[in-house]
Amino acid sequence: MIDQVTAHPDHAATRLRYLQASGLLDSASEAAFDRLTWLGAHVLQAPIALVTLVDADRQFFKSSYGLAEPLLSARETPLAYSFCRHVVEQRQPLIVCNSLLHRLVQDNPAIQAMGVGSYIGFPLRTADEIVLGAFCVIDHHERLWQPQDLEIADQLAQLVMTEINLRAEVRRRSAIERELRESHGQLERRVEQRTAELGREVENRRVAEGEIAAKACELERSNRDLEQFAYLASHDLQEPLRMVNGFIGLTLRRHADRLDEKGREYLATAADGALRMSRMIKDLLAYSRVDRVAIADLAIDCDAALDEALRNLQPAIAESGARIERSPLPRARIAHTQLVLLLQNLIGNAIKYRGASAPEISIRAIIEQDAVRLMVSDNGIGIPQPDQERIFGFFQRLHGPGGPGTVPGSGMGLAICKKIVDRHGGRIWVDSVPGHGATFQVLLRG
Ligand code: ADP
Repeated sequence: MIDQVTAHPDHAATRLRYLQASGLLDSASEAAFDRLTWLGAHVLQAPIALVTLVDADRQFFKSSYGLAEPLLSARETPLAYSFCRHVVEQRQPLIVCNSLLHRLVQDNPAIQAMGVGSYIGFPLRTADEIVLGAFCVIDHHERLWQPQDLEIADQLAQLVMTEINLRAEVRRRSAIERELRESHGQLERRVEQRTAELGREVENRRVAEGEIAAKACELERSNRDLEQFAYLASHDLQEPLRMVNGFIGLTLRRHADRLDEKGREYLATAADGALRMSRMIKDLLAYSRVDRVAIADLAIDCDAALDEALRNLQPAIAESGARIERSPLPRARIAHTQLVLLLQNLIGNAIKYRGASAPEISIRAIIEQDAVRLMVSDNGIGIPQPDQERIFGFFQRLHGPGGPGTVPGSGMGLAICKKIVDRHGGRIWVDSVPGHGATFQVLLRG
C-alpha cells in the first residue's frame, strides 16, 4: 500500500491539485532555488539543504545541496523516507535535534540511508495557507538548533515561496494572455463567419429581389396579355352572339305559327341564355376597359360622381321605390368615370339585392388621416360571412338564376369595383349580416 500524507483530506486534495497545476513537480532544477539551498547549507554550516515538494506518495526535491548519488539524480524518495511530510501534515515547522529520539521520525529509514542526525524544516506556505512542502536543512549529527538557525531557515523558506509565487504569477499571466489570444482569435473567426454570412444573405436577397422583379415583370406582361385577350375575345364574341339573337328573333317572328308550345319555350330559353351571355361579355369588356383609363393624380369631387351614378340609376330607383340618403362626400384620388362606375355598381346591387321592403340606401364617408372611407349601406338580403370575399372574384354570384329569385347580373360588377379600387391603391370590403343588409366600404387616398 502506498504511504500517503495523512493531512486533513480537504487540505490534502487542494494541495495536490495545486502542486499538479504548479508545474513544479519533476521540473528541471533552477538556479534561483539552488542558490537558496546553497545559502542555507553554508549559512547554517550544514551538509544538506533541500527544497522538498511533498506529493501523494513521494517527496520531490526541486533543489538539493549536498545530496550524494543515487539520490542526487533520482531527485525523489518514497514518502517513508520523508521528514518533510510531517511539516506538511502538521502545517508547522519540524525541529529535530536528535533523530533517534524524536517520536515522529525515530523509525524513519532516512536516518540510516541519508545519515539524518538532526533536521529543521519550514513549511512552504502559499497565501491561501496551502503547504506544498518544506525548506529543510539536515545535519549528520545530533545538533541543538539555535533560534537564529531557525530564523534563517524560516526566511529562506519564505524566499523559496517568493520564487514559487513568482512562477505561479507568470503562469497565471500567460494563461490569461493565451485565453485573450484565443478569444481574440475566436472573435476574429466569428466576425469573419458573420461577414461571410452577411455577404451570402445580401447575395441571396439580391438574387431573390431580382427574381421577384422578373416575376413582377412577367406577371405584368401576362396580365396585359390576358386583358388584351379578354378585350379581343369579348369584342369578337359579340358579333356571333348578335347573330344567334337575331336568328332566334327571326325564327320566333317568321315561324311562330309552325312552332308548338315546347318549341317556343326552347327558343325563349335559348334567347335568355344568349341575353345572359351578352351581359357577361359586356361586363368582361367593361372589366378589361378599367385599365384603359388613366389613374387619377388629383383628388376629385366625389359628390359630382355620386350625382352622375344616381342619375344613371334613376329608372331602377323609381321602379323599386328606393329611398336614398346621402351626406356630403369629401374629395378623393380616383378617376371620375371610375368612381361613377364603382358607385353605380354598389348602389345598383343595393337595389337589386333588396329584401321584402323597399330599399333604404345610405351613402356617406369618413375622413381618416390621409384616406377617405366611402360607405354604401343597404337594408337588403345581406351576404353570408363565408362568401364575403369571393363575391369580388370573376363571375361570382350568390343570387340570380339558379339561386333565389331571378335577379339579373353577370357576377362581374364587384370584380370591376375591386379592380378600380386596387389600381388606385385602395381597398374594398363588405360587412354584412344576412337578413340585415350589407355595408360596402371603399378606402381611397384623400
Ligand atoms: P352581379 O350583381 O352581376 O351578380 P356583382 O359582382 O355585382 O355581380 O355581385 C356579386 C354577387 O354578390 C351578387 O350576385 C350577389 O349575390 C352579391 N351581392 C352583391 N351586392 C350585394 C348586396 N348589396 N346585398 C346582397 N348581396 C350582394
